Amino acid sequence: MASAKKQFAVIGMGRFGFSVAKALSEMGFDVLAIDSDEHSTQAVSNIVTHAVSADSTDEEALRALGVRNFDVVVVAIGEDIQASILTTLILKDLGGPIIIVKAQNELHGKVLQKIGADKVIFPERDMGLRVAHHLTSPNILDYIELSDEYSIVELRVTKGMIGKNLKELNIRALFGCNVMAIKRGTKMNISPAASDRLTVEDVLVIVGEKNDLTKLELAYSES
Ligand code: ATP
Repeated sequence: MASAKKQFAVIGMGRFGFSVAKALSEMGFDVLAIDSDEHSTQAVSNIVTHAVSADSTDEEALRALGVRNFDVVVVAIGEDIQASILTTLILKDLGGPIIIVKAQNELHGKVLQKIGADKVIFPERDMGLRVAHHLTSPNILDYIELSDEYSIVELRVTKGMIGKNLKELNIRALFGCNVMAIKRGTKMNISPAASDRLTVEDVLVIVGEKNDLTKLELAYSES
């Protein structure tokens, strides 16, 4: 392809696929949206560069669409696990793009990993985790799982933290977690110093083992 702009294909225009395709388009990327259902492709046709009705379990159809020339393909077929797996296998065989696949559950995710998906995502599970952490500790503004062991949390400073510096807070010694960054309004300090004092508007971005983060969340669950 002549353009240096990244080319994305998104297969499956459910709520998730639609929102990925729309966001990529709004960011200025070329997006090919594929769905076996014509209504779904019509709904996205004004938003993306190309929208095509095709069954992604049909190897010839994917080949004809030139999917292997794309940089990234997102497979966003959830419910029809068989179609999701077959599509991923075909894409893998065709070779070329980075393959990102939405998994419906853990087992589906394991199969996708085994057959060579480059990244498996669990949007419902991840959003459920984030909401649960926020509900149990309102100071937790966001929760991102990095791996089975590690996560990142965004913690709004509590009253007791205001005016203290990171050394005084002693989060590393007390909880074994690291403050990676401090968000202050729209500014982000990505290499906070031990002497940096916290203000009421600050949010700490902390990485650590999940067990340690849970202890930290509990300790700072009160405002
Ligand atoms: P949501 O993101 O809304 O939760 P979901 O996970 O329930 O979606 P589905 O509704 O199963 O996912 O599928 C998303 C889209 O994928 C649907 O629009 C469906 O028509 C499309 N789809 C399913 N199978 C295929 C296929 N073989 N080829 C192309 N598109 C397909």
